[in-house]
Amino acid sequence: MTLDLKALVRTIPDYPKKGILFRDITTLIEHPEGFKESVERIAAAHRGQNITHVAGIEARGFIFGAGVAIALGVGFVPIRKKGKLPGETIGQNYALEYGVDTIEIHADVLSAGDNVLLVDDLIATGGTAIAAVGLLRRTGATINKAAFVIDLPDLGGADKLRAEAVDIHELISFE
Ligand code: 5GP
Repeated sequence: MTLDLKALVRTIPDYPKKGILFRDITTLIEHPEGFKESVERIAAAHRGQNITHVAGIEARGFIFGAGVAIALGVGFVPIRKKGKLPGETIGQNYALEYGVDTIEIHADVLSAGDNVLLVDDLIATGGTAIAAVGLLRRTGATINKAAFVIDLPDLGGADKLRAEAVDIHELISFE
């Protein structure tokens, strides 16, 4: 496992708006070995830690999170945008640059005794991941580990998540 995963991520300037350098993971997941190694490395870092579920954040967190769940032999919990899950849900609001968004999980999916690994493609300011951890913890489950394919450390999200007692594993960092 010696691939340069960072080299497989494409950077697109001015998306979704001017001045943003968007880190595009579609080029990583199109690469069979790159995709496999991303999933395998996250899974390998969490084997033997009694993880009972992987929770992935819509939408790119589903791609990596589902693979990690299969590799660890545990179930997958989708954290979805508001209004997408069919059963009874619990939700958590979080601030965006302009406005508020809401993420939801099924109310009955987790409970005390469960030990959840949170997976997303990228952590920037940490707003999405902190909302996800808060939401998952309301079920009584333990969430003290999160994995990201990409960290943008200058935006401080990983530090904020560590301050919430979450250990972070990231594969790639863009300073
Ligand atoms: P945060 O809430 O940490 O500021 O932003 C992270 C969320 O926004 C993640 O769910 C991630 O998918 C998305 N995101 C923000 N910037 C980027 C980017 O440059 N590339 C990708 N792939 N996702 C991003």
